[in-house]
Amino acid sequence: MIAPVEHAPLAPHCTLRVGGAARFFLEARDEAAVLAAAEWAASRRLPVRVLGGGSNLVIADEGVDGLVLKIGLRGVAARDLSGVVEVTAAAGEPWDDFVRHTVERGWAGLECLSGIPGLVGATPIQNVGAYGQEVSDTITAVRALDRETGRIVTLAPTDCGFGYRDSRFKSRFPGRYVVLAVTYRLAPGGAPYLGYADIAREIGTTSPSLAAVRETVIRVRRSKSMVLDPDDPNARSCGSFFLNPIVDAAGLAAIDARAAGLAMPRWPQAEGRVKLSAAWLIERAGFSRGQAAGPVGLSTRHTLAIVCHDGARAQDVAAFAHRVRAGVEARFGVRLQPEPIFWGTIGID
Ligand SMILES: Cc1cc2nc3c(=O)[nH]c(=O)nc-3n(C[C@H](O)[C@H](O)[C@H](O)COP(=O)(O)OP(=O)(O)OC[C@H]3O[C@@H](n4cnc5c(N)ncnc54)[C@H](O)[C@@H]3O)c2cc1C
Repeated sequence: MIAPVEHAPLAPHCTLRVGGAARFFLEARDEAAVLAAAEWAASRRLPVRVLGGGSNLVIADEGVDGLVLKIGLRGVAARDLSGVVEVTAAAGEPWDDFVRHTVERGWAGLECLSGIPGLVGATPIQNVGAYGQEVSDTITAVRALDRETGRIVTLAPTDCGFGYRDSRFKSRFPGRYVVLAVTYRLAPGGAPYLGYADIAREIGTTSPSLAAVRETVIRVRRSKSMVLDPDDPNARSCGSFFLNPIVDAAGLAAIDARAAGLAMPRWPQAEGRVKLSAAWLIERAGFSRGQAAGPVGLSTRHTLAIVCHDGARAQDVAAFAHRVRAGVEARFGVRLQPEPIFWGTIGID
């Protein structure tokens, strides 16, 4: 028997700290509770929204109709296979505690993903990544409830459709799966990943320990207000608000023409496509760090983060994001796509 709370405020559950209430709210601490909650909602024809750490969410001021299911499943288990370790974490494990756990044991593979907020279960949703590592590099299995069939399934990476900040969970079947646990294959005694110039330069040695890479990543992230720190005036964000756009050769030529000689950063991708810097585009479209519109604005330390201050509402966030996107589109002809997920009657179109 489950007993969801009614009209539960959601702002305290998300890092932007805006948004209204959930019509029903329940925290599930084991798989049986997840199944019971899904059945409870299905029998009432209520939509279900799955909540992790709320660090990639913009929740409408009017709140969310239906059941918000907070994932509280805990537990980590590892098994040695020849030369590798497979470690499975329940979806409700705080991500950064889990990364620290792997680094402390000398298991390479997640060190560059240190300091990212949120819970384990959300990491496959947008294929969480930073400094050249993505969870899709190490995920071997995702255990999930398929709400369409009511069954628990184990998905292989090839079933997950991972892409740049994307997966089938996010774009193809949003809301269908409740992630229960994720398995990562890590390298005991492996060398840390050092493919990202900023981190390699900051470390200053060519053979650092996993712990040194983790510390450096967290230090660099902190300097950009990209770790959660309640004392930081940029604390209320959901990280990068826009994805870096990926364009084809014709798109690039059109943007280059508009950039008129400016040295626009670019990174080659598969199939002749090119990734651009959303931060660069925003800055060159005339927006600057710290620029505000009432109680919301750009972070003073990261152009891609939209931050909330006292009195902010979700609609202020959406209006400001819309303004930034319109400015970039007018200047460069590129339509930036938001990275966070919007819940309820809110969006930036
Ligand atoms: C300061 C800051 C820095 C950040 N830096 C990065 C970064 O470097 N790289 C990066 O990739 N992201 C970054 N993010 C974004 C965010 O932390 C990640 O996307 C994170 O994985 C979201 O986890 P969460 O538990 O908070 O998810 P939530 O915000 O609670 O949910 C996000 C989405 O995932 C779904 N979801 C969550 N859990 C489950 C589950 N168990 N099953 C099914 N669906 C689920 C939700 O329904 C929602 O659609 C940052 C955010 C902040 C605030």
